[in-house]
Formats: sequence, structure tokens, C-alpha cells
Amino acid sequence: MKYRRKLFAAKTMSGRDCPGLLAAAVKENVAYHRAHNPAYRRLLDGMGFDAAHFDRFSQLPFLTTAFLKGQDLNTKRSFYMAQSSGTSGKKSAVSYAPDDLPVLLKTAVHAMAQRGLFSPKPVNYVMLGYRYHRGNQAQTMRTAYLGTLMAPALRKRFALEWRDGAYQPRLEGLLEDLVKFSRSSFPCRILGFPSYLFFLLERMEERQIRLTMPAGSKILLGGGWKQFAQEEVEKAELYRLARERLGIAEEDIVEIFAAVEHPVIYCDCPRHHFHVPAYARVMIRDVHSLKPLPMGEPGLIHFVSPILKGSPVVSIMTDDIGVLHPGSACGCGDPAPFFTVLGRAGLSEIKTCVQGANEYAEGQL
Ligand SMILES: [Zn+2]
Repeated sequence: MKYRRKLFAAKTMSGRDCPGLLAAAVKENVAYHRAHNPAYRRLLDGMGFDAAHFDRFSQLPFLTTAFLKGQDLNTKRSFYMAQSSGTSGKKSAVSYAPDDLPVLLKTAVHAMAQRGLFSPKPVNYVMLGYRYHRGNQAQTMRTAYLGTLMAPALRKRFALEWRDGAYQPRLEGLLEDLVKFSRSSFPCRILGFPSYLFFLLERMEERQIRLTMPAGSKILLGGGWKQFAQEEVEKAELYRLARERLGIAEEDIVEIFAAVEHPVIYCDCPRHHFHVPAYARVMIRDVHSLKPLPMGEPGLIHFVSPILKGSPVVSIMTDDIGVLHPGSACGCGDPAPFFTVLGRAGLSEIKTCVQGANEYAEGQL
């Protein structure tokens, strides 16, 4: 995979966007999976896809995240399987080949270094999620655990502890931890789901608790809002509460976006936008016709990246609704387009549409 190697070389990753190289790496990736994965080959052949003649990313056949749930379409068996959290009951399992791991690591480091997340100074961690437990394979938890590797840990405290065979919430204990950490001379890092942070800040507001976390403290958010959609608040409200209750400024709040089926790590820019790196493309498709939409129009988010050898997830259509904007609309200086996630497709018409795309894919297998 020489084009993949070039695409994920440090120089290319931090340099200017190179669509020719990305297209070559995508072609190479599709050809690799086609040659080594009979199910994927049948799928491509059924769609009449000719890798030699594709010239636009929008022409790539896609798999949907909903289709991948409950399927084993992996190209390689690997020692590492990433699983989605499976909020709908079904889980996606995406296999990583051994030489996928250095690429994944490089992209994660590249994204996170841009927001200054690596620090030799030890920090106290507040994990707004589960304490890692062998029985729970959810990728969101593993990602949160990886989040604690960017700065050495003095102490780690969790919102959910495994007790008596189940996860028990401990928001009260967490509040006490925060008070303790606010008196420390080391920074604090709060990691996890935005919804948990909101609950925590709300509790603090109710009790008029106002803390000033040590200088250099940060909040890292990931995992989305999907389990608590009814509790979703505007991000601005969350930033206001974080400043008011913890003394953590908006620029020290970093949001991370990643999906099991598209394991490119996106870190938001200082203006909280997810810019698309040189090794990925994002398209927005109409929820009815699935046709690509121009920038600014909301639709289903379609990701392309030749990042994995373990699974043919080079072109993935999610059931997330989003919008793509030109880089210039952000103002942070990054010229790459950025996407905004508006939410999960919940309307029955959108479900029908995604379902239709799934049935179409299934028909090819
Ligand atoms: Zn930006």
C-alpha cells in the first residue's frame, strides 16, 4: 500500500491537501479489499463499480453504518476488533490489521497535537464515563482511556464504577473529587460524554458550587449526545456553564469526533469545527435521493478514507445528519472544509431511506 504510506506520512498529513494522492490511495484501498474480501468483491461487482475508471469520490460505492451492524465484512482477522457502543442493540465490529495500528495512532496524535493536548505535566483525570472493565468492549470507553495517555495521570476518577455486576453512577463522589482537584497545583482534565458533563454542571449550578480549576485544565468531549438526545443543550450553554462553574474557558474545551466505522479522529479547531484532514473526504447526501449535496445543505454524512486494511470501510455512509461548510466560513485559518453534526437521523422517512440503502447493499451480497 504505497499510496497509503505516502498519504499518512507526517509531511503529507501536516501539509497541503493533495486530492490526487488521496484518490490514488482510495483506489489502492478498494483494489486491496476487492482482492482479499470475496463478500466486498461481490458487493462492488453487483454495483458495476470499475475502480480503474472512477474519478470522483462521490462515485464510490458506500456501505452504511446500519448495514455493518451485525455483519462480519472484515477483510482480515485481527487481534484488535473495535466495537461500536451499540445503543440500538446491534453492534458494529470493525477489524484492524496489525499495520493499521501505527496509521491510526499517527492520525490520532496528529489531530490531538494540533490542540496542544500532549503535555509532560501530570494531571488529575475526571472520566465522565465507565471505568474500564474487561466485560465492556465499547469503543467509546477505550477511546476515553486512550485520552488519558496524552498527559501522565496523577489520579483518575470515574463517573461510573463497576460494582456488584453493574455500572453504578457516582456523581456525588465526582463532585467531591472536583473540589479536591481544584485545590491541586496540577491541572485537571475532564473527559467523556457531553451529556454527563451537562448533568454535572447542572448539579453544580443547582447548589451554587463554583470552582476554579488549576491553570492548564481542559475538557475533552466525545461520544456524542445520542443517548440523551432530549437533554441536548446548545454548545454555547455548555461552554457558559463550564466557565461559570469550573473556571474553564471555551478555548480549553476540545471536542473529538470518531466513529468505529470511520476511525479517523477529528479534533475540533479552536472555533469548535471539525475540519476534514488531507487523508479523508466528507460528503453530504440527500436523505431521499442519496445524491451528493452542495455545501451548506443538510443531509446524511458520507465519509471516505483509505485508513484501514482490516475492514473495507473506505467509503461509509452514516445515519448522522450533518452539513459541510467551506473552510473560510470558520475563520480559524484552516482552509479545509469542516462538517457539523446536526444529530442522528431519527425521522421515519430518513430511516426508510437508510434502510433502502441497506437492502440495496444486502441484495448485492
Ligand atoms: Zn476552524
